[in-house]
Amino acid sequence: MFDALTDRLSGILDRLTRRGALTEADVAEAMREVRRALLEADVALDVARTFIDRVKERAVGVDVVKSVTPGQMVVKIVHDELVAMLGADAQTISLAAAAPVPILMVGLQGSGKTTSTAKIAYRFTNRDRRKVLMASLDTRRPAAMEQLATLGTQTGVATLPIVPGQSAVQIARRAMEAGRLGGYDVVLLDTAGRTTLDEALMAEVAEVKRAVDPHEVLLVADALTGQDAVVTARAFDEALGVTGIVLTRLDGDGRGGAALSMRAVTGKPIKLVGVGEKFDALDEFDPQRIANRILG
Ligand code: GDP
Repeated sequence: MFDALTDRLSGILDRLTRRGALTEADVAEAMREVRRALLEADVALDVARTFIDRVKERAVGVDVVKSVTPGQMVVKIVHDELVAMLGADAQTISLAAAAPVPILMVGLQGSGKTTSTAKIAYRFTNRDRRKVLMASLDTRRPAAMEQLATLGTQTGVATLPIVPGQSAVQIARRAMEAGRLGGYDVVLLDTAGRTTLDEALMAEVAEVKRAVDPHEVLLVADALTGQDAVVTARAFDEALGVTGIVLTRLDGDGRGGAALSMRAVTGKPIKLVGVGEKFDALDEFDPQRIANRILG
């Protein structure tokens, strides 16, 4: 994860800390290199630019070049701004609502939506001891419904029985009813995905959202698609109002552009990241820890 960026930044910042005294020009040159490293990691242009501007502004503000350890001060500022860019505090899924708490999972097909639904259900069940019900609303793809049922069997999480012929809204209502009657704590609704953003998809999910008034709307996006993941997240947020992001396939993401830009571009927190195919391959996204990892 973020390997290339970690290597580049440690090279640039190590050189700076080894130098002892620094001039304004040294700092400016290092910042140009940091900016290039961010862009090579596929960080959104605006995000990289704002980041560098803020670092420079703070470096001038504290008069870095006159300090005893200017290099270390630059490293600290870079670290702090990286944490800020990633969203400052770790955010998690909220279950603070009347049971059964409805959570809507949205995203493009292939993003890892169904797998993430099962991972979250698995975590709530086994770690948080909640009673969870999952339901697939993908009326156009019976295979998707069966996939969720299979994942339910594998994780030991209940899934709503499949009733052919129902609309997404009808299934969602039935899931909430089953949730109430069965004494469930959480109902995870896995909405249909499409391969591209389209209005019909958004309209259907918006209708489901109105019907169940979800406590969380989690957008699942694939980190490997880089800036496309960020564009997708923004489009879903504009159409539906997203409360958080689940970023999948971070385990195979050597660049990190989506993870690094997501919060700054969309204003929405990454609440969880997928780090593998197993049910427990789900991590919290902690800006502090990630910044520490990137800066070594
Ligand atoms: P959906 O169409 O959005 O529901 O996508 P799926 O949940 O079916 O996931 C598509 C593929 O991505 C499956 O083979 C998953 O095992 C895989 N996948 C999902 N999340 C992750 C992840 O975090 N890491 C890795 N390596 N694979 C993942």
